[in-house]
Amino acid sequence: LALYLARRHLYEMFAHAMAEDPAECCGLLAGRDGRVERVYRLRNAEPEATRRTRYTIDAMDQLRAMREMDDQGLELIGIFHSHPRTPSYPSATDVARSRMPGTTDPLYPGVAYLIVSLEDPARPYVRAFRLDGPEIEEERLVVVADE
Ligand SMILES: [Zn+2]
Repeated sequence: LALYLARRHLYEMFAHAMAEDPAECCGLLAGRDGRVERVYRLRNAEPEATRRTRYTIDAMDQLRAMREMDDQGLELIGIFHSHPRTPSYPSATDVARSRMPGTTDPLYPGVAYLIVSLEDPARPYVRAFRLDGPEIEEERLVVVADE
């Protein structure tokens, strides 16, 4: 399994992460058949005190983005956020929040979780993970040329 995205999609996620630094950024990736077509930069609704270490996608932002995807025949294929000071790996909170409360059932089955790390500000990078199962699994990201 792999997720395909263009260089410009990477740069959009990096730009969002840098703009929100030192807070975590968040957003959605929409596309078809595992190919990203659109990056949604959304607001982190966490309060000031916690937004450096966790994220909650603003509910209205998410609703608007999901409606637009529906209208354009796109699917939700990824959820991204940033780790401003730590490596790109899901935190216990990230894993817990990817599931239905009190269960191990994924909230968004089949959706990849991408984490942009700004640990080294000169070299932002992103990794993708599947949180559907009991284990955290890395998903391959394939960067394709911009059309
Ligand atoms: Zn995280």
